[in-house]
Amino acid sequence: MKNSLTTNAIQTSVFSVNSREVKVHAVQTGLISVKENFLNRKGQGFMSKLNIVMGSSYADFMPIWVWVIEHPEGIIVVDTGDIEASRHKEFYKNESVGKRLTLSAMANKRDISRHDELDAQLMRLGIRPDQVSKVVLTHLHGDHTDGLKFFPGNEIIVNEAEYRKPYGNLATTYPQWFNPTLVSFLKDRVDFFDRAYPLTKSEDVLLVPTPGHTYHHASVLLKTDKGHILFAGDTSYKHQQLLDNRFAGANIDIAQTQRTYHTILRYAEKYPLIYLPSHDENSGNRLVNREYLIN
Ligand SMILES: [Zn+2]
Repeated sequence: MKNSLTTNAIQTSVFSVNSREVKVHAVQTGLISVKENFLNRKGQGFMSKLNIVMGSSYADFMPIWVWVIEHPEGIIVVDTGDIEASRHKEFYKNESVGKRLTLSAMANKRDISRHDELDAQLMRLGIRPDQVSKVVLTHLHGDHTDGLKFFPGNEIIVNEAEYRKPYGNLATTYPQWFNPTLVSFLKDRVDFFDRAYPLTKSEDVLLVPTPGHTYHHASVLLKTDKGHILFAGDTSYKHQQLLDNRFAGANIDIAQTQRTYHTILRYAEKYPLIYLPSHDENSGNRLVNREYLIN
């Protein structure tokens, strides 16, 4: 069942960052549907994973957002979305038998066509992939990394700990040239998160730790002159999961996810914060309408 989400949508909003104009684009690179128990955890620990395998009902299709920040220091792209090829078994042929079995047990469905892919979407914005200054990955799941193939000559930034200890990634699907710049968080850089890696010299764009979905998942924080924006990857799949303290079945570490939620909520109490998960159907609307997590 497919809902009424339109594909290849782009939503744009202009922010003031250190008194300079910064355009932010929400770019939808297709739709994905996961099992209900993958989206919303059922049971504890091992049972929650077994319930994904045994479950047969699927949640509604949800978007796969990519974020494009036209910063004066250069264009930053957060995650790379998915590609049409990822819908076919052939794409995973070099994965181990174990990984392929896991894939078919988790069995998500994707609705992605060539015009949803990130290179085509960037061209609609008048941006050639080679004009992108930095590509930043929140984590190494395929629906965030499959579009890497459009950036063979660009700097690609990954949290070193995520790269060293990924969870649920499919390394054979990376482009062969993939050799990202591995970064480590610096201490005392930002309230509540504490550690951060500055993505701009002006330190108005920061990579911050948001672990739980994977062991070392990270998010991108943009500090505008009127409130901040968290490009949250899969910290939660949905905006409401964070507010309700509910968890995805897919997450590797629930206690860590809970601490991450807590940190984000504390941050949002101090700074008006727009929270933008990669798979919430309203993330694009929240960006353009400047809807804060806590009002
Ligand atoms: Zn993920």
